Amino acid sequence: MTFEYAPAPESRSIVSIKPKYGHFINGSFVSGKKHFPTINPATEEILSHIALGGLSDVDKAVIAAQKAYTKTWSKLSGKERGKYLYRIARILQERAREFAVLETLDNGKPIRETRDIDIPLVAAHFFYHAGWADKLDYAGLGHSPKAFGVAGQIIPWNFPLLMLAWKVAPALATGNTVVLKPAETTSLTALLFAEVCQQAELPDGVVNIVTGDGSTGAAIVNHPGIHKIAFTGSTDVGKKIARAIASTEKKATLELGGKGANIVFDDAPVDETVEGIVNGIFFNQGHVCCAGSRLIVQESIADEIIEKLKVRMAKIRVGDPLDKNTDLGAINSKEQLVKIKELSAIGDSEGAERWSPQCNLSNKGYWFAPTIFTGVTQAHRIAQEEIFGPVLSVLTFRTPQEAMDKANNTPFGLSAGIWSEKGSRIFWASQHLKAGVIWANTFNKFDPASPFGGYKESGWGREGGRHGLAAYLKNGKESGSN
Ligand code: NDP
Repeated sequence: MTFEYAPAPESRSIVSIKPKYGHFINGSFVSGKKHFPTINPATEEILSHIALGGLSDVDKAVIAAQKAYTKTWSKLSGKERGKYLYRIARILQERAREFAVLETLDNGKPIRETRDIDIPLVAAHFFYHAGWADKLDYAGLGHSPKAFGVAGQIIPWNFPLLMLAWKVAPALATGNTVVLKPAETTSLTALLFAEVCQQAELPDGVVNIVTGDGSTGAAIVNHPGIHKIAFTGSTDVGKKIARAIASTEKKATLELGGKGANIVFDDAPVDETVEGIVNGIFFNQGHVCCAGSRLIVQESIADEIIEKLKVRMAKIRVGDPLDKNTDLGAINSKEQLVKIKELSAIGDSEGAERWSPQCNLSNKGYWFAPTIFTGVTQAHRIAQEEIFGPVLSVLTFRTPQEAMDKANNTPFGLSAGIWSEKGSRIFWASQHLKAGVIWANTFNKFDPASPFGGYKESGWGREGGRHGLAAYLKNGKESGSN
């Protein structure tokens, strides 16, 4: 006998969304000229209208950030900067529920994830970097390492507030000021963060937020007052940024796409592995640059793993992101849904076999059922390209070396997972994988102390940990800049 889940929706009354937002420049909200709607991808309801930043808005923000850098922020001791970061971290914790609900509304990800993963990690990033602010001399990055000045930061829509924290916390801890552009479809939590900066009495101009689209991002990249760029997003835009700054002195960290291999050896604990595969690809609707989007499983256990995976997938609850029992929420935008559908159709036409559990998907909003493709070969586009959705491509191997060759055979090198009972096998495999982050018998675990970044087309440099600090300091030894 099975019981149905009763609806358990989180109330949205805790958030108050204004009908229209401007930019946050020099400590105040200033009106924008043009606006575009931001919607709830689960319902297509228009939540608000966001300002479309142009060259003059970016210019004002950079001037405010330069002034704040020279007049205030660079004059404060690390200890004083750290106090502001601690204050921000505590306010984020106090307002965690409000941020979680707002993120879920604007992004479409389940409240269970915003509440238990995104927002706690956001606060953790500020706490972690608050601790470093007065200890930079002891970080092994040289004596009295110096900030660049103004950092331009451009972030994507998959972890809106978490990506803001990954960018803003190390920049402020190391003494830089910031001009940040959130993604077009998910600006609301960044704008609420601006209120947190006011509440924490952060000096004016230390954090500036200019909302907008790709042209706003390009204006930040090309502004002569920006000395360091931190970008997370697609490899295509990362390449454009690399080209734009090639003949300048600007430094950059680029955190780009991935096609992570989740490698399962025949001695892996089956049930835990199946849970790890699900977490690797269906967490955050698969909108994860380090997702385990390729399952590379030893041939002798492939049938058993796939059978159990299908049973587990049939239990994934797809639906209202605000419901506390939802596992898989809405796809963030219509454009992303089109891309997922197109690449999946290519998987069909290339001869892979598609399977999804029965799901009742709403007619309103953007939805895609959890999907696996079996019979995938390395030549298939679904084995090479980032789908950035809840779609898993399954490949098999016979020997450990074949697993390594297949895992490394993409243009990317961001993440990998290894499932095996043998420590020696895990160490051997981790030495042969070209991936910036490798998990063993787990997947998609994040910590502010742990550096994150990729090889090849997955980007330049590392974010997080001591390595991430280096990327915000002139001559930071660990910097993976251009
Ligand atoms: P983009 O790379 O286009 O967007 C990332 C950020 O860059 C956004 O804030 C975007 O603005 C901004 N941007 C766009 N063009 C420029 C430019 N020329 N110069 C500076 N900044 C720019 O990713 P998309 O949102 O379009 O997603 C496309 C694909 O990228 C996805 O399908 C996925 O495969 C991949 N992706 C990877 C991510 C990762 O974490 N590795 C994250 C997001 C996407 P805006 O979007 O507001 O117009």
